[in-house]
Amino acid sequence: MDINDKLVIAIDGPSGSGKSTTSKGVARVLGLRYLDTGAMYRAATCAFLDAGIAPDDTQQVIAAVASAQIEISTDPDIEKVIVNGKDVTAAIREPEISAKVSTISTIPQCREVLVAQQRKIITEAVPGIVAEGRDITTVVAPDATVRLLLTADPDIRMARRKRDLDSNIDAAALADQVLRRDRDDSKLVNFTDAAAGVIELDCSDLSLAETIEAVLSLVTHRP
Ligand code: C5P
Repeated sequence: MDINDKLVIAIDGPSGSGKSTTSKGVARVLGLRYLDTGAMYRAATCAFLDAGIAPDDTQQVIAAVASAQIEISTDPDIEKVIVNGKDVTAAIREPEISAKVSTISTIPQCREVLVAQQRKIITEAVPGIVAEGRDITTVVAPDATVRLLLTADPDIRMARRKRDLDSNIDAAALADQVLRRDRDDSKLVNFTDAAAGVIELDCSDLSLAETIEAVLSLVTHRP
C-alpha cells in the first residue's frame, strides 16, 4: 500500500513530552496502528548488550543492530517487543537501557537500519498508523499525512517522566533520563525546531485528554 493512500500521523518530540501516550490515544480513537520507534532503539540496545558487546565497540554494535530481529506490536493496546526471539517488553524500560540507548541513536549506520524497518512497518500498516519518535516527521515519514512536533517545558517534561517512572528516582538520574538524553539524541536529529510543514504543539498547559483532542482536531481540519 502506498503511504499516500492512507492516514499516517507522524509525531516527534523530546523525552517526557507525552508523545507515546498521546500517540496511543489518537490511534485508539481513529482505529489506527501505533508505532513506538523509541522502543525499537531500546530493543536494538538490548540486542548489543545481550551479545556482550561494549558500547564503544562501534563496529560490533553496528553488526549486532544490523542482524537483530526486532518484532514490535503495532496494536495501541498491546505493548510487546521481541528481539532475537526474546521478550524484552519490560527490559527495554530499565534505567540501564535508557542510559545506553543513545549509543545506538548516535551511530548513523544503526539509524539507517532502524529507519528502513520503520518505513516498512508504516508502509504495511492497515488502515493507517500513528508513528512517534524523534525523526518521523523529517526522516522516516516526511510524506506523512499529518506531521506534528509535540513540545513541553523542560520542568514539565521532567515531572511527567518522574511520574511515569519510580517517583523515588533522584534528581540526577531524572535529569540524565530527560535532559542529557535529549542533548545526546539531538546530535544527529533535530527535534527541537519544527521542520517546514511540521506543526508544533506545545502541551505544557494541556492535560493528556486535551492534547489528544488537539491532535485529533489538527487531523480533522488538515488542509
Ligand atoms: O522515546 P524513547 O524515550 O523510548 O526513545 C528512546 C531513545 O531512542 C531516545 O532517547 C533516542 O535516543 C532514540 N530514538 C531515536 N529516534 C527515534 C526514536 C527514538 O533516536 N525516532
